[in-house]
Amino acid sequence: MRDKNILVTGGAGFIGSHLCEELLKENRVICVDNLSTGDCRNVEHLMGNKNFKFIEHDVSKPLELREKIDLIFHMASPASPVDYQKLPIETMMVNSFGTYNMLNLAKKKKSRFLLASTSEVYGDPEEHPQKESYWGHVNPTGPRSCYDESKRFAEALVLSYSKTYGIDVRIARIFNTYGPRMRKNDGRAVPNFVTQALNNEPVTVYGDGKQTRSFCYISDMVEGLIKLMGSDVKVPVNLGNPSEMNILEVAERVKKMTNSDSEIVFRDLPKDDPVRRKPNIEKAKKEIVWEPKIMFEEGLEKTIEWFEKEV
Ligand code: NAD
Ligand code: UDP
Repeated sequence: MRDKNILVTGGAGFIGSHLCEELLKENRVICVDNLSTGDCRNVEHLMGNKNFKFIEHDVSKPLELREKIDLIFHMASPASPVDYQKLPIETMMVNSFGTYNMLNLAKKKKSRFLLASTSEVYGDPEEHPQKESYWGHVNPTGPRSCYDESKRFAEALVLSYSKTYGIDVRIARIFNTYGPRMRKNDGRAVPNFVTQALNNEPVTVYGDGKQTRSFCYISDMVEGLIKLMGSDVKVPVNLGNPSEMNILEVAERVKKMTNSDSEIVFRDLPKDDPVRRKPNIEKAKKEIVWEPKIMFEEGLEKTIEWFEKEV
């Protein structure tokens, strides 16, 4: 992907800022963010670049741009369960009105549009590993529903726009991703465990820690998103690392790798917390020729190094 005008919504967030940085190597990037869960510091180092523009704006409201826009990466949305449960209405708004506004912009500018969807569309899955063909098992009124259901709505809206107006669309179902620039207090497992371990505070495992996740390092995710955008695959594609582990194992590895004296403590499991999650990535492997390269130990080491400077 080169010499394109690219809009990244949510570009001051964790994934968005890494995406902006990578895209900026060969393109012009406009980053739009309302800084609700993001941070200007994530893109501070890009501000001096003449090919980078930052606009503070809430994409749940329409956005007017003078520039030609070739590609839109719609990444804006709170993503951590703690964040989206604090901001349930904003989350539903950005995934509904925000997606609607960005699709209208894509229609006007004739841009290709990529939605950052999520493995949460599968809910607490009854099929394992999860394939794109699985319809999901989502509680429509539970604590996670503001996120799960609005992302499901967003996928349906994107496909409706594609069908009605011929907009060229991509849908990435992103699985748990981690790395530098996650907020230390965003409440997700990796930043919580690393911060707690570095401070020699108790490492909080929810439930018995037997629930599983599959963690993808940020550089692999950015590569996957760019490859998907560059492909001709117009149906949802899982992007994630299929290496599955339980949460207690994650806590133990973090503790070991930080040489921490922290004890591991067990806290109540949040309601509707998915029991198992692992992507089937055969579609991504075959159709966009992508698979993650970074092993958990390696990614965790880089993440710990970054958090050491933060805490
Ligand atoms: P993040 O919270 O770090 O980034 C989200 C960004 O969107 C923030 O900068 C925030 O300020 C911005 N934003 C939120 N609402 C906005 C609005 N109305 N207008 C403009 N900007 C707004 O989260 P992240 O982990 O970087 O997630 C990015 C995207 O990827 C989200 O859409 C999320 O649903 C998706 N995703 C992430 C993961 C993951 O593990 N990180 C997993 C699945 C899906
Ligand atoms: N988790 C935990 N301790 C924490 C934060 C999270 O045990 O301090 C658990 C959480 O209950 C879930 C898993 O780790 O089972 C992943 O949580 P995260 O918030 O990172 O992502 P998601 O639940 O959205 O997959």
